[in-house]
Amino acid sequence: NISSTLETINDLESQVRSYSRSFPAVFEKAKGYHLWDTNGKEYIDFFAGAGALNYGHNNEKMQHALIEHIKNDGIIHSLDMGTETRAAFLKAFNEIILRPRGLDYKVMFPGPTGTNSVEAAIKIARKVTGRENIISFSNAFHGMTIGSLALSGNAMKRKGAGIPLNNATVMPFDHYVEGENTIDYVKRFLSDDGSGVDLPAAIILETVQGEGGLNTASYTWLQEIEQICKEKEILLIVDDVQAGCGRTGTFFSFEPAGINPDIVCLSKSIGGIGLPMAVTLIKPEWDRWNPGEHNGTFRGNNLAFIAATEALNYWKDHRFSLDIQEKAETIQQELSRIISAYPFMNGTLRGRGLMQGIACGTPGIAEEITQKAFEKGLIIETSGADDDVIKLLPPLIIDAEGIEKGISILEESIKEIKQ
Ligand code: PMP
Repeated sequence: NISSTLETINDLESQVRSYSRSFPAVFEKAKGYHLWDTNGKEYIDFFAGAGALNYGHNNEKMQHALIEHIKNDGIIHSLDMGTETRAAFLKAFNEIILRPRGLDYKVMFPGPTGTNSVEAAIKIARKVTGRENIISFSNAFHGMTIGSLALSGNAMKRKGAGIPLNNATVMPFDHYVEGENTIDYVKRFLSDDGSGVDLPAAIILETVQGEGGLNTASYTWLQEIEQICKEKEILLIVDDVQAGCGRTGTFFSFEPAGINPDIVCLSKSIGGIGLPMAVTLIKPEWDRWNPGEHNGTFRGNNLAFIAATEALNYWKDHRFSLDIQEKAETIQQELSRIISAYPFMNGTLRGRGLMQGIACGTPGIAEEITQKAFEKGLIIETSGADDDVIKLLPPLIIDAEGIEKGISILEESIKEIKQ
């Protein structure tokens, strides 16, 4: 006799404690930027599967292509065997993304997740340079395995490994130290006088720290980091797992900075419709692995390739990226207005493109506001080391009406918290 309470449906008792319990509902349907729970309640999705649903839920072209493939007994799982779907993705990725940008990378499928992409990146950097240490930054998030977690700039997340993690040095991210130039920091620690850290194999960074509180690196900071890498023969890895695939308005988040990383990590929205997929882009000269040195059962899922190819075709429409910039400006204006209208929040605007939010100087309220918003039908999350940043991550296909509704629920929630 199964009770239909929320607790039972979510079966929280039988799941490990590390699962987040912040969305108290059972969902059954989703389309575009909407989700519906089993009670028929509608939600606006400003979470987008933690950035995996840039094109929204159930994009029709992707859905159709997947259904056709399955109906025709197309190959779903083939490990590293060549398939037409894999070839079509590679062709589209080269023609739509790499070639028009003058970028020359070899494409690797490192496994199904963003973490897999980061692991592959740091492994190849170690192999190429023969060095062990990796530099990452305060508030960084790069994944949950021992290797990628060692790069984390978040003490709480690091504790998940139980004991201290080595092989990485965390340095202050751009703007981390008020009034200090953090580039000088990095240079000082990499000086050749032996007093600093071991010369690293790589420097890894996010241009906008999605999990770490929407901190953004300035374009000049990124250029200076690239310069340091060149001078010291350190590989530059950009982790574009969350900020990439159009999230900030350009396909790669680093494009406006004009930098050319040695390695780029992509995942989340590369799979188009939420299918697990990851890509590691490696400059041809660093393609040093022998066959079998990095493999895995679930790299190269053909359904993901199909959705991913459709997603690239969708991206090809230039108007789409212009739209993203317009929407980002609207959100920025609205958030600035809210920050001024509700000084009790002590808010600061954070982020870039369609990953923006409010850092709340008043402790605890970000969490309260997101819970209130959820009750009112808006799905948002908090980010940052103290969960004090309200983070808006709508699908890129969000329209003016969706933005307006989402922002108005956010504002209503803030008003109610104030009372
Ligand atoms: N890097 C960044 C920047 C991320 O935001 C994430 C996921 N939030 C990851 C890596 C890890 O990706 P995944 O959860 O797919 O392993």
